[in-house]
Amino acid sequence: MKTPDLMDDRDLEIINDEEIYRILEKNSSADPAEIREILAEGRELKGISLEKTTKLLTVEDPDLLQEIYNTASYVKNEIYGQRLVLFAPLYISNLCYNECLYCAFRATNKHLKRQVLTQEQIAEEVAALIDEGQKRVLLVAGESYPEEGLDYVLKAIDTVYSVSRGKGQNIRRVNVNIAPLDRDDFKRLKDAQIGTYQIFQETYHYDTYKKLHMGGPKRNYKYRLRAIDRAFEAGIDDVGIGVLFGLCDYKFEVVALRSHIRHLEKNFGLGPHTISVPRLEPADQSYIASHPPAPVSDQNFKKIIAVLRISVPYTGLILSTRENAAMRGEAFAMGISQISAGSKTNPGGYHVSPTEKSTATAEQFSLGDTRPLDEVVRDVVKHGYVPSFCTSCYRRGRTGLDFMELAKPGEIKKFCAPNAILTFAEYLNDYASEETKKEGRKLIDKLLKDIDSPNVMNKYQQIMDGERDIIV
Ligand code: SAM
Ligand code: SF4
Repeated sequence: MKTPDLMDDRDLEIINDEEIYRILEKNSSADPAEIREILAEGRELKGISLEKTTKLLTVEDPDLLQEIYNTASYVKNEIYGQRLVLFAPLYISNLCYNECLYCAFRATNKHLKRQVLTQEQIAEEVAALIDEGQKRVLLVAGESYPEEGLDYVLKAIDTVYSVSRGKGQNIRRVNVNIAPLDRDDFKRLKDAQIGTYQIFQETYHYDTYKKLHMGGPKRNYKYRLRAIDRAFEAGIDDVGIGVLFGLCDYKFEVVALRSHIRHLEKNFGLGPHTISVPRLEPADQSYIASHPPAPVSDQNFKKIIAVLRISVPYTGLILSTRENAAMRGEAFAMGISQISAGSKTNPGGYHVSPTEKSTATAEQFSLGDTRPLDEVVRDVVKHGYVPSFCTSCYRRGRTGLDFMELAKPGEIKKFCAPNAILTFAEYLNDYASEETKKEGRKLIDKLLKDIDSPNVMNKYQQIMDGERDIIV
């Protein structure tokens, strides 16, 4: 495979096809004893090499797969405990210059109703999200911000933070998924107080990338590949990466993603804060979206999640509402640490009342899980996890290397567990249905028995007495 615009050593360090194919070939099988050795190493919570990651991906035997899942589950519990962080995407615009063949927002899709929310409309969306109980949003947009350019996005971030619906009833963290920027604009994005900057390479496979990105700035593979480097150089130390699974062979993608992480760790001393694992979903007027060139079965999807959990244990794993409730339920145990819930992928989707006309034609892709937040919360509890609306690390400056210093010796759980309880208690008091309240309180009572910190108990009491936004 030729990679004509990938010429310099730095790009080849991020992804070198020849090396990836060599690794895939050399590690194309492993006997059960070797897999078990790798899993034992995984249980030491230090991560595993690219080569060992590749070997785990080759496993097909159901019993061995189960051992991989069990190991992932162990790793997840040791590092993150029982908490599962919740957020919602906030689509502010579906205008786009690009021609990504799998996406409904692509420029030539004339069938799509285009919407660019005004700042007032964004504030209405945010109010609707807060009223459901959300505390974290992921701001998303197509790549085109007419007239105002990046200022439109920066103002939108300000707008999100400015909306308050009462004591402690606001969005406390805005993560952003927008097109790659140059270094100066990344600095401006950092100054806007974002949480995570997130960008998916879609596919690391150059030829596939070129076939699927037919026009617009996104056609430049290399500019996208280097985006995280520029973000780090601009001082953003909290970044998220991902692959859109279904476009190209999943083993190639996972090894490439892992190679990207190796490059970041080598050059910046730090990998991504999160990895997202979106799987291709049907999208308006897109043949590719309904006919994935390299479909990923449910079994392989679970394997990808579990192997990533073992391979890079300190990196959060995000699962969106692209997946249905059953898959999401299974994935919690495999190592997912954050999920979106109650999502809409059409700009203006939250504020629409049920009696208004649906704007489904403005959606980016169809969702597998359309349940409201309250139902998802109840389901998370049913699966034995604690829904968390925590935004503490980011607001207390525990990001980048500081976060890793706490995560690696297993200290982060000491913050995550109480903060999950405190923010969940807020949610139950302020937003939950009676049924969710009942189940949620039962869980909290059980968890409080294991908390031997008077400080945390005191804070919990303050929440129950009506105080808000109290974190550890
Ligand atoms: N426009 C920016 C970009 O492409 O980087 C950021 C926002 S884009 C709306 C967010 C992500 O949606 C893309 O990176 C892509 O992975 C995902 N996406 C696009 N079409 C999809 C589909 N049909 N199914 C699932 N995910 C899709
Ligand atoms: Fe535009 Fe992003 Fe959709 Fe591509 S994936 S068409 S860049 S919104």
